[in-house]
Amino acid sequence: MSEKTPKLRAALDGIPTYKPGRPAAADGPAAYKLSSNENPYPPLPGVLESAVTAAGSFNRYPDMACKGLMAELAERFSVPLSHLATGTGSVGVAQQLVQSTAGPGDGVIYAWRSFEAYPIVTQVSGATPVQVPLTSGEVHDLDAMLAAVTDRTRLIFVCNPNNPTGTVVRRAELEAFLDRVPGDVLVVLDEAYREFIRDEQVPDGIELYRDRPNVCVLRTFSKAYGLAGLRVGFAVAHEPVAAALRKTAVPFGVSQLAQEAAVASLRSEAALLERVDALVAERARVVEGLTGQGWTVAETQANFVWLRLGDRTVDFAAACERAGVVVRPFPGEGVRVTIGESAAMDLFLQAAAEFRKAL
Ligand SMILES: *Cc1c(COP(=O)(O)O)cnc(C)c1O
Repeated sequence: MSEKTPKLRAALDGIPTYKPGRPAAADGPAAYKLSSNENPYPPLPGVLESAVTAAGSFNRYPDMACKGLMAELAERFSVPLSHLATGTGSVGVAQQLVQSTAGPGDGVIYAWRSFEAYPIVTQVSGATPVQVPLTSGEVHDLDAMLAAVTDRTRLIFVCNPNNPTGTVVRRAELEAFLDRVPGDVLVVLDEAYREFIRDEQVPDGIELYRDRPNVCVLRTFSKAYGLAGLRVGFAVAHEPVAAALRKTAVPFGVSQLAQEAAVASLRSEAALLERVDALVAERARVVEGLTGQGWTVAETQANFVWLRLGDRTVDFAAACERAGVVVRPFPGEGVRVTIGESAAMDLFLQAAAEFRKAL
């Protein structure tokens, strides 16, 4: 046998692997998964039914152009069809965005810590990640991000609210930033948690994109709409960005199940947004509970809370697990806890209280 092995791109060396939130072990102490920012509600009956019906023809390829879903999105968000592109979750679309703009030698700027998919999709394209630390208040440092722009910068991610801190950038600062970014650099506003925002000072990216050809908005059906397992997200962007996304899409990436469930979700939006309201109320209860226990909690506008625990991160996550909830530790930094079922949040608050007392 040959001693040789296939040559792989050097760019793949050192790419961090995406760490999915751990599930609750079937036989372990933890019953609740609060580690992936999923929606704790099961599918709405009507949405489930449309997916089940679509499953009856999965011997066929899906509609590659996602025509039904695109039409529904165009109407819902008052945008032209030509400004829409869908993908296998918004992570899929994020990867297409980087592939469309940046290759070896090009820079992709994002805050850090932020969404763990950004370094992966950047490096898969062979581009260079440029990580700009969050401020001491856990917020995007837009001035520093702007200062990091060079003539090799091709794309900037702004995660609003930011995963995993839940913090937001508000209208005035975001607009001032967008006004100063060179027009040939694409700014991607990742709004995966848009529906959970209650701060009116946080702008809707779809309003900001309208007169800014270098702004692209990413949205997903995975969080508020509860379709994480079906993998469908979308981007709103001007031509030629939207056209580039359609070119870089994996053909037939979005299944017919996902397309039908997404359309049904948009048509059941009122019921889904009621669930979001309940999660937002639960978020307020959790933040209040933690603050009452003496914790400092970053102000969150998403479906999770962030506790900066430093060296205690791993111990805290273990204590939560013993109490029945799996959270998401970022060792040495902090813990992200998804807002889930009230019973789960009770267990979490109790674990947090006990951990604090023992400090
Ligand atoms: C969860 C999340 C997404 C959405 O991922 P999907 O691929 O659509 O499931 C995108 N961006 C951020 C910041 C997220 O946290």
